[in-house]
Amino acid sequence: MKDTSASDTSRQSGASDQPAGPQAGPSAPMAPGDEAPQGTPGTGENICRDCGGSGRQGGATCQTCQGSGTVTVGIGGA
Ligand SMILES: [Zn+2]
Repeated sequence: MKDTSASDTSRQSGASDQPAGPQAGPSAPMAPGDEAPQGTPGTGENICRDCGGSGRQGGATCQTCQGSGTVTVGIGGA
């Protein structure tokens, strides 16, 4: 039997101040038809006008909503 006490945890993971990646803002990808990132106050999901909510146009993925069928638009209730 070997007494292997893993006492090598005293080493801290330094140099962790560098950015984790080129991620700027929310991770939710914005579709071309989106007026604001998902979750933005004052906005809501709406049916994509270009594909009518089907997410497809002419047999291909709708580029306006990226195939989701909905876009995030301002609901401007004020
Ligand atoms: Zn669409």
